[in-house]
Amino acid sequence: MSTKKEINKLILSATKLRESGNFEKSLLISRIALRNAIAIKDNELIANNYKNVAANFNELMEFDKAIFYYNKALIFANLTNNDSIKEKINNNLGNIYCFEKRKYEKGIEFYKKALEFSEKIPDSSQMAMTNLNITWAYFDIGSYKEGKNNLKFLNWYHNKHEDSSTIVVLKMLNGMYHSYKNENDIANRCFQEAIKLGQEQDNKTDLSYAHLEYSKFLLKQKEYKNAYDNLALYNRLTEEMFTEVKSVKANIEGVNFELDEYKRTIDKIENEKDLQFKSLKKSRVIVLLFIIVLFVLLLFLNSLIKNNKYRRKSNLDLMHANEELIVANKKAEELSLLKTQFVSTISHELRTPLYGVVGITDLLLEEHKELALGPHLNSLKFSARYLLSLVNDILQINKIEENKIVLEYLTFSISDELNMIKNSLSFIAQKNNNEITVEIDPLIPDSLIGDKLRFAQILMNLVGNALKFTNNGEVQIIVKQLKVRGNMHTLEFSIIDNGIGIAPIDIDKIFDKFVQVGRKEMDYQGTGLGLSIVKRLLELFGSDIAVESELGKGTTFAFVIDFEYDMVKTAEIISDIQVDLTSIQVFNVLVVEDNHINQIITKKTLERNNYSCTVVEDGYAALEILNKVEFDVILMDINMPLINGFETSRRIRQKGIEIPIIALTAFDKNEITDEAIAVGMNDIIVKPFEPVQLFKIINCHIQKVKSVV
Ligand code: ADP
Repeated sequence: MSTKKEINKLILSATKLRESGNFEKSLLISRIALRNAIAIKDNELIANNYKNVAANFNELMEFDKAIFYYNKALIFANLTNNDSIKEKINNNLGNIYCFEKRKYEKGIEFYKKALEFSEKIPDSSQMAMTNLNITWAYFDIGSYKEGKNNLKFLNWYHNKHEDSSTIVVLKMLNGMYHSYKNENDIANRCFQEAIKLGQEQDNKTDLSYAHLEYSKFLLKQKEYKNAYDNLALYNRLTEEMFTEVKSVKANIEGVNFELDEYKRTIDKIENEKDLQFKSLKKSRVIVLLFIIVLFVLLLFLNSLIKNNKYRRKSNLDLMHANEELIVANKKAEELSLLKTQFVSTISHELRTPLYGVVGITDLLLEEHKELALGPHLNSLKFSARYLLSLVNDILQINKIEENKIVLEYLTFSISDELNMIKNSLSFIAQKNNNEITVEIDPLIPDSLIGDKLRFAQILMNLVGNALKFTNNGEVQIIVKQLKVRGNMHTLEFSIIDNGIGIAPIDIDKIFDKFVQVGRKEMDYQGTGLGLSIVKRLLELFGSDIAVESELGKGTTFAFVIDFEYDMVKTAEIISDIQVDLTSIQVFNVLVVEDNHINQIITKKTLERNNYSCTVVEDGYAALEILNKVEFDVILMDINMPLINGFETSRRIRQKGIEIPIIALTAFDKNEITDEAIAVGMNDIIVKPFEPVQLFKIINCHIQKVKSVV
């Protein structure tokens, strides 16, 4: 790579070659210098080279090429702080535009720029040169006023510096100005001085112009002969100059091809530079893009990390929340279980003594019939039964809410069931002086299959309410068959009373738990649980309850239940529970029961019906007596100290004793069925039991054993 100094040397020699008319060589050296200047990216040197190339073309009168390269030179010069080169290029461009292209306006623009730079430098000789050019341009186009100040400056400058190189033109310009001013003598003198100096200097170019302008002046003075002579001199001089240039041109004619080649090379250098620039630009763009992409990636990475952190944190939060939820859920489940267990335990604990109270009251009433006439024992019995029903209700609703109830399918007679309900409620009916009527659609088959216990419970509650809230009236139970689909009979039950009725605003509330509306003092018995049990039980049947009521007129509750009618199934179910109640045989019953009151009640109940009864207090005693005595059936309490009913039964079966064991329990049947079967028990009776029910079951099992034997 060349140094700046070396390139400067090349430029200097190229300039010298040009000045000596060796344009070809000058251009060749400029080419080398230019390539080197571009290589070291020195704008000033590049501009200088282009300027020399342009000057070469200017001398060769290739003005377009000259303008082209001067412009290039100017572009690079403007990138530098070198005002001198900027001034020179602008001046040269001004020359070409004004004197070759005759585009004075544009040329003068360049001159003005050149002047600005020469003032900055400050270079008074350059300033004088530019001023000379501007003045000449203005005068050429007749703008004498505009050029006047420039001329003034030139004259001042010349007086000061005695510059001979421009004196011919300066004298000529003064001549032109005075001619314009019609100061003809002065003008004439100026022109003549110019011509004289031109001849002395052998400055053909300037001299030729001096002759031309003098010819114009003389023409104006109507000195035609003189004017013609000066014009002829001008023509001769121009001719001479042209021939000289032509010969130079001819000299380089042979290198014209080389010149074009030269131009192409310069273009190539340019292109290379352009390409370099473009690739630089491209690589810059790539670097920029890379940076942007990197930045975006970094941002992305950052947000990813943040996101991850956030996610991890929120995952952790969620995990904590989840753990808390699991704990809370567990707690809730435990609490719910505790509540259920509590309710069920309390209810059972209450049921056992209540069973005793009810049972003993019954026995008392039976043994001392005179007491039945007095109010005390009856109200004791009533209160005990009420308490019992309350406990049962609570147990029931608890079970429904725990989803522990599954409907059972039993066969039953609809008329029997309704009459049973009617009979069991006849006591309340009489109390309020009400009549109960039952109306059954004759289309309904008598034997149906369904959960008759739950169905009875629904009806008991509704009819019970109707009787409670009606005085001296009528309660109708009406059953209608709405439709039959296959075996399914859709029945509508309506319980209609003409009692006190329910206010419209209370209608929606009555199905809530523990709600009793319009109650005056302690007029009616009730817990406020009846209707909510009804509603929930009907939900188990997939049904709902409808109510219509008018205060003082009465109330109608209605619901729809599907029951199955299937003779074959019914026959099977009936044969399963066929009981021989007619037997007069005396059976031996072993009662295993720890509670004394229960012992008495059960014993009395059995003995009253001609059953022989042995009572033992616990499981061990039972196991012992079974070694010695033979029994037909065992009634086994479940809740006993030492060993409970299940364990005792298991041991009895272990001994190989096959006699039926019937569990007597205050528990709900469903709760103990599985375990009872597992230990080998045969059936379950829930306390307090109806004596008839007890005997039915006892007989049934004894019969089964007998029929096998
Ligand atoms: P209760 O144990 O008080 O009877 P229920 O849930 O069975 O509880 O009934 C709730 C309330 O609905 C009753 O207290 C009563 O005010 C009203 N009610 C229920 N049935 C009737 C009816 N047939 N006639 C008038 N009011 C009734």
